[in-house]
Amino acid sequence: MFRTSYIEINKSAYQKNLKFLKSQIGAKTRFSSVIKGNAYGHGLEVFAPMAQACGVDHFSVFSADEAQRIKPFLNKDTDLLIMGDVYGTGLEWSVENGVEFFVFDFGRLHDAITIAKKLKIPAKIHIELETGMNRTGFESAEYPGLAEILKYSAEHVQLSGICTHFAGAESLSNFLRVKKQIKIFKEAVSWFEGQGFIFRYKHACCSAAVMRFPEMHLDLVRVGIMQYGFWPSGEVFAEFAMNQDDPKDPLRRLINWRSHVMSIKDIEPGQYVGYGSSFIAHKGMRIAIVPVGYSQGFSRSLSNHGRVVVGNQRENVVGIVNMNSISVDISQSPEIKPGDEVVLIGRQGDAELSVASFSEFSDLMNYEILTRLPVLIPRIVVED
Ligand SMILES: *Cc1c(COP(=O)(O)O)cnc(C)c1O
Repeated sequence: MFRTSYIEINKSAYQKNLKFLKSQIGAKTRFSSVIKGNAYGHGLEVFAPMAQACGVDHFSVFSADEAQRIKPFLNKDTDLLIMGDVYGTGLEWSVENGVEFFVFDFGRLHDAITIAKKLKIPAKIHIELETGMNRTGFESAEYPGLAEILKYSAEHVQLSGICTHFAGAESLSNFLRVKKQIKIFKEAVSWFEGQGFIFRYKHACCSAAVMRFPEMHLDLVRVGIMQYGFWPSGEVFAEFAMNQDDPKDPLRRLINWRSHVMSIKDIEPGQYVGYGSSFIAHKGMRIAIVPVGYSQGFSRSLSNHGRVVVGNQRENVVGIVNMNSISVDISQSPEIKPGDEVVLIGRQGDAELSVASFSEFSDLMNYEILTRLPVLIPRIVVED
């Protein structure tokens, strides 16, 4: 395959992360791998089969289109859960294919029951409760009405779960808000159980909550960012490290984004490099042109700011990021030649570029930078 850059996904790093996460979660709680956002940029169709080969048998996506993309790659007994958008023919497809989904309002509940009746297949639903996030979920005033519908539709719905989502468990400043959500959730679940309902899975935790609120692991956890080797925030890592005798980061990044030197140019002192006049060479310089630009996800805001690793050293991007290329200062490394590997995210020799140092972004932005990596860059699984 021809390519200007590619993304490696490291399987043994994933196995290490899984092992760590399972040690935190314990054997009684099921692990759901969250693969929305193109598996956080890792490539849905490449990442999920690899995770499945490592023993993962439950996946959560955002929407029906993601579910449809990944379903053909999953084993028969692997469960798939839609946490967000599903309607119309997507809902019908989901019921028909045994794909589970969140139900957070009466409209979707009604549609699910109608489709289940028509297809004579029970809809596998997870009742989502509003506990304080104020995004999606049934409000407490709606519980009695909901319970009534669930009772008389019992043959058309399978109660696969009851769940909620925390509003920012990765930040200590939200501690009281999340504690309140926990209380509301526990009381609501007791209320429904008191009505005689049995839910297969009670679940609430994302990555940060797995680390911070172990009492909420319940029957299933929905883990996204940490399985990919990133902490949800510096704070969650710091809290973990403070409780270790010999603090080390147990997580490994899976991703390595690699390209190569396309061409090399020597610049005379006083010359501008690239479009316009944003960069001037104050001395004689050697510049490597790398065939990755903003159309490949290397943000234009990294003009004169970004870094890459080449020749086992971190080097600066100089001038404006072009649509399909960047210019890198390699004046210190005269041995570099066209075809040499360039690392945009990840490791080369002893030099590493984390997603965060990819720019000046905060840790929380890991989510955004990862998911913006273009779908079209080829992803390849490597064993180590
Ligand atoms: C994205 C998401 C998760 C996973 O969050 P991470 O912080 O990546 O672990 C869990 N639950 C819901 C509802 C989500 O939308």
